[in-house]
Amino acid sequence: MYSFDKDLWHVRARPTGSQDDTKEENRSESPTSAVGAESPRELPNELSAPYEVPQFPIEQIEKKLLIQRQLNVKAAECGQSARSLAGDAVLEEAAKLRATDDDFDVVLPHFQRVAISGEDTSGVPLEDLQQASSYLVQALEIRKRYMDISQQSFCSITARFLRSMDSEAAANHKPSVSVQKHIADHMVHPPFKANKDPWEGPTPSAKDYTIKADDGVFNLYRQTEAGEERVPYEYVKLPQFIQDKNTMCTMIADGPLKSFCYRRLSYLSSKFQLHVLLNELRELASQKAVPHRDFYNIRKVDTHIHAASCMNQKHLLRFIKKTLKKHADEVVTLHKGSPMTLKAVFQSMNLSTYDLTVDMLDVHADRNTFHRFDKFNAKYNPIGESRLREVFLKTDNHMNGKYFARIIKEVASDLEESKYQNAELRLSIYGKSPGEWAKLAKWAIHYDVHSDNVRWLIQIPRLYDIFKSNKIMNNFQEFLSNIFLPLFEVTRDPNSNIELHKFLTHVVGFDSVDDESKPENPMLEADVREPRAWADDENPPYAYYLYYMYANITVLNHFRKEQGLNTFVLRPHCGEAGPVQHLVCGFMLAENISHGLLLRKVPVLQYLYYLSQISIAMSPLSNNSLFLNYHRNPLPEFLARGLCVTLSTDDPLQFHFTKEPLMEEYSIAAQVWKLSSCDMCELARNSVLMSGFPHEMKQYWLGPNYTKEGVAGNDITRTNVPDIRISFRYETLLDELTNMFKFRHNPQQNGVRPPTPPTPDMKVVSLKRPSLV
Ligand SMILES: [Zn+2]
Repeated sequence: MYSFDKDLWHVRARPTGSQDDTKEENRSESPTSAVGAESPRELPNELSAPYEVPQFPIEQIEKKLLIQRQLNVKAAECGQSARSLAGDAVLEEAAKLRATDDDFDVVLPHFQRVAISGEDTSGVPLEDLQQASSYLVQALEIRKRYMDISQQSFCSITARFLRSMDSEAAANHKPSVSVQKHIADHMVHPPFKANKDPWEGPTPSAKDYTIKADDGVFNLYRQTEAGEERVPYEYVKLPQFIQDKNTMCTMIADGPLKSFCYRRLSYLSSKFQLHVLLNELRELASQKAVPHRDFYNIRKVDTHIHAASCMNQKHLLRFIKKTLKKHADEVVTLHKGSPMTLKAVFQSMNLSTYDLTVDMLDVHADRNTFHRFDKFNAKYNPIGESRLREVFLKTDNHMNGKYFARIIKEVASDLEESKYQNAELRLSIYGKSPGEWAKLAKWAIHYDVHSDNVRWLIQIPRLYDIFKSNKIMNNFQEFLSNIFLPLFEVTRDPNSNIELHKFLTHVVGFDSVDDESKPENPMLEADVREPRAWADDENPPYAYYLYYMYANITVLNHFRKEQGLNTFVLRPHCGEAGPVQHLVCGFMLAENISHGLLLRKVPVLQYLYYLSQISIAMSPLSNNSLFLNYHRNPLPEFLARGLCVTLSTDDPLQFHFTKEPLMEEYSIAAQVWKLSSCDMCELARNSVLMSGFPHEMKQYWLGPNYTKEGVAGNDITRTNVPDIRISFRYETLLDELTNMFKFRHNPQQNGVRPPTPPTPDMKVVSLKRPSLV
């Protein structure tokens, strides 16, 4: 252990700006200088400069000075040759491939780069490499198409490589003209807007469109002289989706492609280990050099958390006791048609405030919930009573969700107090009746439930089979209509339900939730029934639910964009358990996903998720209680390989103990997996990138140029992520993409193994549910 007492040093107040100067010096250091040109006197940590706070432990500094001296002698002898040729190549390649619109001055940070030299660097026969590359490019093209059509985002680096193959697209591409903004233009905190109505926004005028569902997807029609005409909003039709999904499923089962991707992923892991080995101290030093910023005061977003369980158990208990004391005589529910006060509810359970404990509340997941989603679901009912859930944790009850609004506001004010933590809470729309949206919006507006630290996602449980068997609806189309028709109507005429219109401006996307391990046929047949004809008790498979959510969101986004309104993303629970085909749907349809645990079993998909940098909100504590023991969680591996992963809490009510569940999640991950401060800050930065918070807010949080590629997009004074780490990730991704696109087989050439269509055998394989260990 190393301890350091600052008082022993006479810390001199440095003139303003000197910190920046030092940083600038470090940054602009030429690649050769660190090995040789720099004299030991200029080391920022030198002991003879007693006024500097050292960044490294003293014994390391002494060692470093010694090595530095030895290296100086060597470097003088070898001159330029000290640089490895491979290192040069990487730098040149990186410079060449940097986007043309990013050509303002960016100084690449100096660090020890790991590069593989030689002709064939993939370790597989050239033929396999070519074949694998053309499959992967094909898969990336599929995702790009689906994202573009639905107005969701696609990794800009990968997009550039895809464009480079298509000369027409490359010619038509207009680089976004953006001037580099400097820190002076952007304070770290968004300007405070006092007395601003949070629900205020543009209210576009009504459109004269008719809304009609065509095979489960809502479309807009306008009257022309020639008759009714469909507004040409593009979306992917079901047969096309099934065909693309089958292509993808064939791909993930392809043997040679599997081994290729597995090798690349292993290479990425090893490369990261080497990077950390060689650069850990540099990364740490550059973090220490940033004034004021540390892990506690960088922005983090909890990108996967359910509103009904966003408070911890102690908070809920305190809230129930408080309410029971202050509002005992409030009528909270109806029992067999007669009103029932809160006091009466508790009397009916033989309970008083004194009796209540966290143990009695019994909402925490424990070892009995492992692989038992049913038992876990029951934990949402405090004291096992669904009535208490209804009174305290629902938006739609006898009091129109008054208590729920109150407790959510308490959680939101805790977030505001912590200042740097934000959450994207999921509220439910069940699709049971068309009035749900209006009620939910009324709840939010009437009780004024909003916060600058909170955005909403709408979760849609896959419960059609329950509604159908309870005779609430006749077919799947009714389920879809209940969910989407009100959204199309309010977009067509915001004044038709101004509350819903306002509420939607705070909604960032949709989530699809339920137990993924329920048995189902994960393959969609080409002759699958359309929603109107889906009239039996059987629940449609995951892919069917997701496709119809995606297709309707696509058309809705086109329409909302035309009206100048915000658009939505799809961020489903995906790959927590069940068939791996769910992850194929996620890859094709969703901008980002929650969980993604099963990617560990599918190297092809894992590599594709890496190449397209799909964000994954992982919740290892939740997994630990439900599906996968903590020490087997793939998060550290995914992070090492460079997948865009982040930490989220899922259900603090069930899994966490402290007042700051997100910090608890980070803390446990850091302890168990020995994550460095740099890793933690990278996870936090990913969470902001993935979130649906507005672009301007992200500019304040991550830096004004955060959308730019590589180091240009990083602002360490806000993210606390060293440029070295960002550069390593960027150059590694460029390397992978370059390799792949270089060797991509031209499909017109002879000798390509044609993609095998799905055989009946494969369907049998895919029907088998993977083990849930
Ligand atoms: Zn969840």
